[in-house]
Order: sequence, then C-alpha cells, then structure tokens
Amino acid sequence: MRRPLRDDLVELEGYHSPQVAAAVRLNTNESALAPPVAWREELAAAVAAEPLHRYPDRRARALRRALAAHHGVGPEGVLATKGSNEALQALCLAYGGPGRSVVTFEPTYALHAHIARLTGTRVASAQRRDDFTLEPAAAAAVVAGERPAITFLCSPNNPTGLAESPAVVAAVLEAAEATGGLVVVDEAYAQFASWTALDLAAEDRPLVVTRTYSKTWALAGLRLGYLLAPPPVVADLELVLLPYHLDALAQVGGRLALAHVEEMTARVAAVVAERHRITAALAGLAVEVWPSEANFVLFRPLARPAREVWEGLLARSVLVRDCSSWPRLAGCLRVTMGTPEEGDAFLAALEEVLGS
Ligand SMILES: *Cc1c(COP(=O)(O)O)cnc(C)c1O
Repeated sequence: MRRPLRDDLVELEGYHSPQVAAAVRLNTNESALAPPVAWREELAAAVAAEPLHRYPDRRARALRRALAAHHGVGPEGVLATKGSNEALQALCLAYGGPGRSVVTFEPTYALHAHIARLTGTRVASAQRRDDFTLEPAAAAAVVAGERPAITFLCSPNNPTGLAESPAVVAAVLEAAEATGGLVVVDEAYAQFASWTALDLAAEDRPLVVTRTYSKTWALAGLRLGYLLAPPPVVADLELVLLPYHLDALAQVGGRLALAHVEEMTARVAAVVAERHRITAALAGLAVEVWPSEANFVLFRPLARPAREVWEGLLARSVLVRDCSSWPRLAGCLRVTMGTPEEGDAFLAALEEVLGS
C-alpha cells in the first residue's frame, strides 16, 4: 500500500553511492588501510568489558573529553555524532526548518543540500567560479543577501579537492556574524590539507567545524564523527539528537583511536605523498586535473567520454567515482588515494584505457 509521502519529499532523489565489486576500490575516499592492529586489540578488550545490557553514556563524556584534549579545547565545545552526517543533520534540525534557508556553494558535497531539504529547510545554491574557487567578497555578498540560518562550506571541498582559502572563510564568517547566521565548515578531509578553519574559531564566533573518523582515522565502518562549536551551539544541538544516538562501541572505539595519533599522522603523510605522485602522473596524460588538498583527485579525460573511461577502468577491476552526471562536473571522474600498489594499478589501467 502506497502512503502519501510528505509533499516536500516527493520530488527528492535519494543519496546514491553505488557499491560495485572491484579489486581496486578507489571510489568512496575511505582509507585503503585497516585501522592499526593495536587499536583492534584494545577495542576487543574494551568491548569485552563493556556492560552492553546497559544504555551507553548518553553524553559520550569520555569520548568528548578525549576529543577536547586532542584539539586543545573544552569538552563543552565538542559534540560526538553518528558519523559527521548526523552532525550536519543536527545542525539543520536545530537551526533550519520551514521558513529558514541554508546557502551552499556548488559544486560541493551533495549531502549538505540533501540533509537541509530532508529537514524542510530551503536551499539557496550559489555557484563557484569556473575554477571551482570562491571570491571572498562575492561569497560574503551571497550570505549578506540571503541571510541564511546556515552557510555550508567544505574544505577541502568534495568532489573538487580544493581547500577554501582562509580569506573566503573569514569573509563568509564576517557576513554570517552580521546577519545572525552560522557558518559550518565540513572538514572531513582537513588532515590532508594545509590549514584548518579551526584557526578562525572562537567562543563568540558563529563557526562550527565538523570532522569524521571515516577518512583519516580509517574507521568508516564505525560511523563516528564530531563537531567543534561554541558551547551554546553544542547545547542547542543536544536538544535535537535522539537519546543514546551514539552506541557504546563507537564511543569506546573513537576514544581509543585518539591514542594512535602518531600512526595516523604517518598515514596522512603517505596519502599526501601519493596524491602528489598521482597528480603529477595525471598531468602527463590526456586529462585535466585539479590541485587537491584531500585524499582524492578530480580529473577530466580530454579525448574520451568519462563514462567510457570509467567502464574501461572497471573492466580492469579499478573502481573510481563517476561524477560526470553531476552538475558542473561533466566529463569528470574522482579517484581516491589508495596504497602505492593501487595507485600503480589505477595509472596503468588509465593509460591503457586512454590509449585504446
Ligand atoms: C566522507 C565525507 C563525510 C563523512 O561523513 P560520515 O558520516 O562521517 O561518514 C562528510 N563530509 C564530506 C564532505 C565527506 O566527503
């Protein structure tokens, strides 16, 4: 029996990220390496001692304290969530809704607009320049004109890989301050980049930075993210989260992971080195390539349709993300940085496909 769907959802398409079988999976920006073995053992021991017949700590206090120490802030300025996507959803639930809007600068992470719409929030999409950057004054003018409840930025930006400049974030923040809005910088890939918007954070500034364990921390399966915000914002967000939204395993796993910063830092350095290598190799092929500060690279085959190249790569068991049907990204593919062996497999397959 069909039920009448909410009117504002009828035209909405779901979020799709196809999972296709392939030996070399470079399509969803995950870590190619499993989490450290020592972490796994610590987690197993901690889980064995966990009283799973009881509800977990509703406020995830131990995890929050660990995250606060990791970032050198107070625990009241930290909120842990079920993936950073839940952080984005909580922000829209608390500050969006009917009669309110968010601003996005396209092309960017599709879930910002999607989650806003799910919460009944109107989306005002502004466009980036042809090179996918923003001009500070122009971006600030969009915020001043629209007066949105939330302005979303994503730095480094998915799917382009470009980091927002400090001048852009500062200008947008100033415009939001003047109009009573909030700026949310999605920093899912910040560890791979040259700077973080946390440098601009202060308790009296309307800036929220979201982070995730899904990429750098090699824990996409754990479903854990968090945000850093002024304490009154964190208090507002706690109002809209479901009770016990964060399970005991995610809480303890996330806390234990923070003891492995050194290994994660080394892994990030390896990913950045691989990104430089792949970017340089792509520059020698018949593709246009964008300079990335993330763990993936966006490129556009010049002489072959992107879909054909994507299929050719898949026939060689290399899976990348086909972005060619996304607005503003005609002809584009996105490749995640994996191990050097996976990078070699990708480059060899791409050379073959482009040469055939
Ligand atoms: C991968 C990604 C995330 C991660 O979401 P989780 O819910 O934490 O897995 C968030 N933002 C962007 C831009 C991403 O690319």
